[in-house]
Amino acid sequence: MPICIECRTPVSTLWRSGAGDNSGHSIRLTVCRNCGRFCDKYVEHDFVVLFIDLVLIKPQVYRHLLHNTLMRDGDRFDPSIVRLGVLLLLFDVYLTWARIEKKSMPESETGQSTLGQLAQQPIVFQYLFFLILCAVSTFAFHASIRFLASSRYSPLVLAGLLPRFSRPNSVSTALLVSSSTKLFPILMVIWEYDVPAAARSLGWAVVANNVEALRILLDCRYYTATILAILGAAARWMTGWLILTSVGLGDWNSITESDIAADGKAFWGYLMYAVQWAGRLVAG
Ligand SMILES: [Zn+2]
Repeated sequence: MPICIECRTPVSTLWRSGAGDNSGHSIRLTVCRNCGRFCDKYVEHDFVVLFIDLVLIKPQVYRHLLHNTLMRDGDRFDPSIVRLGVLLLLFDVYLTWARIEKKSMPESETGQSTLGQLAQQPIVFQYLFFLILCAVSTFAFHASIRFLASSRYSPLVLAGLLPRFSRPNSVSTALLVSSSTKLFPILMVIWEYDVPAAARSLGWAVVANNVEALRILLDCRYYTATILAILGAAARWMTGWLILTSVGLGDWNSITESDIAADGKAFWGYLMYAVQWAGRLVAG
């Protein structure tokens, strides 16, 4: 059953056909009986508006997508979500590849990149390697959060922090939708800019989006959603690290102080960006 995206009251229908009345509109949005606002204004909005509000982490847009549009009977995936998943994976491959290649640059003065043996392989082999790397780490990310939210053996459920959520595919849908912020630097193809820094800021932006989406879908507290997102990110990072280490690309030394400083800077940058946007929204 759809809900009002403003106050979450269940409603029978989000819009009615306006044909036949004199308003000239083809559909009429339902007004919520509880809060008096339109139940779901996004019904009339196009994808660009949705995407911008998604990047701005507006709870209403998540309620629209997760409760009113993408929910399928029997917890099936919406076909558009499968496509989004593939797109995100391919984009992830590009970002990861660019980041690792750039990271291994400074030591290439000797003419030997730390990408080492991998760099000497055919390009198709390199691509496949990064494809598998990203696919497996994304799988770990989804699997861990699905387990924590939906399994009866989940420590969070057992501890009473979270009611068991019986729709694991909806959890994946929420994660995919909220990760679409990753597609933002598609502009990178046009503007050349600092890839590692961009990847870092994006990483934080995606975590913030993941937390909001999980909170709205599972109807839980912020700290529970944050724990879920952080554990999922940790599972993804560990998996990626294990794979990279097994081919001699990852070592603990690669996480240096400058990395942590850069992470902090990226997080701060994202925070400033969010505050700026919030200010603009309040002013406008
Ligand atoms: Zn309402």
